Amino acid sequence: MKREMAAPCALVTGAGQGIGRGIALALAGAGFDIAANDIAADPGNVEKGLYEVKTRVEGLGRRCLPLQGDIAERDDHARMIAAAVETFGGIDCLVNNAGVAPRVRTDMLEVGEESYDRLQRINARGPFFLTQAVANRMIEQQRAGGRPAAPSIVFITSISARVSSPARAEYCISKASLSMAARLFAHRLAEFDIPVFEVQPGIIATDMTAAVKGKYDDLIAGGLLPQARWGTPEDIGRAVAALAGGAFGYSTGQVIEVGGGFGIPRL
Ligand code: NAP
Repeated sequence: MKREMAAPCALVTGAGQGIGRGIALALAGAGFDIAANDIAADPGNVEKGLYEVKTRVEGLGRRCLPLQGDIAERDDHARMIAAAVETFGGIDCLVNNAGVAPRVRTDMLEVGEESYDRLQRINARGPFFLTQAVANRMIEQQRAGGRPAAPSIVFITSISARVSSPARAEYCISKASLSMAARLFAHRLAEFDIPVFEVQPGIIATDMTAAVKGKYDDLIAGGLLPQARWGTPEDIGRAVAALAGGAFGYSTGQVIEVGGGFGIPRL
C-alpha cells in the first residue's frame, strides 16, 4: 500500500478571526496542516475564535493545533514552536499576521508613548523575534531534509507601511518597520532557499476596520479603489496560499499589494 506523505505545516499568527482566519482556511484548502495562534483560545467556543477555525480546518481534511500565545512575548514563541514541531514534525510556512491598530486614533502631534510602544511590541518587535526563531528552525530542517514542502515566510504588513495616515502614525511606523524586517529576512535567508514575501492588505472587512466602516464605505463609493469594493479575508488567504505553494520560490523579497488597485498611480 502507498504510504501517505505527511502534510506541510503552516504557523499562522492571529488566526482566530479576520485575515488570519482567512489565511488559515486557504492554507488548509491548499493542503497545509495549521498551527493556529491567537492571543485567546477558548475550547468551549466553537462559534468564534481558534476552535471554530480548528473545526473548519478539520472539515477540510487537515489537522489544526490551536496555540494560545502573545506574539509580543518571546517565551510564548518558544512554547508555540515546540508544540508545532512536536505535533507536525516541523514548520514549513510562517505567516506573521497578528497585529493591532491603535485603541484610539490620535493626531500624531498628540500620540502618547503607551500606544506607540504597544504597536511596536506587537506589530514589529514580536514578529521579528518570532521569525528569527522559526527561521533558525527552518534552516535546521533544510539541512536535515525530508520535509514535505519547500519553506516560506509571509509577512502581513499593510498599505500603511508606505501611505501616510497622521491620525495613526504609530500604526504606519510599526508596519513600515515590519516591512523592512521582511526585506531583511528575505536577504538573509536567501542562501538557505527560504523565500520571504510581504503582503500589503488594503481595506479589508474585519473586526479591525468595523469601527471605521462608514468612513471607508464613503471613500470607496467616492472612487478610492479602482476595484470598488471592500477586500475580504479570503482575498488575502488566496494570495498567501499562492505564495506558500512554491510557485514564487525565485521571487524572494517581493511585496504584493492585495488592495483592489489602491496603489495604481492615477490621473
Ligand atoms: P483582527 O480582526 O483584529 O484580527 C487580528 C487577530 O490577532 C485577533 O484575533 C487578535 O486578537 C489577534 N491578536 C492581537 N494581538 C495579538 C497578540 N499579541 N498575539 C497574538 N494574537 C494577537 O485584525 P485583521 O483585520 O484580521 O488584521 C490582521 C492583520 O492584517 C493585522 O496585522 C493588521 O494590521 C493587518 N491589516 C489589516 C487590514 C484591514 O483592513 N483589516 C489592512 C491592512 C493590514 P484580539 O481580537 O483579542 O485583539
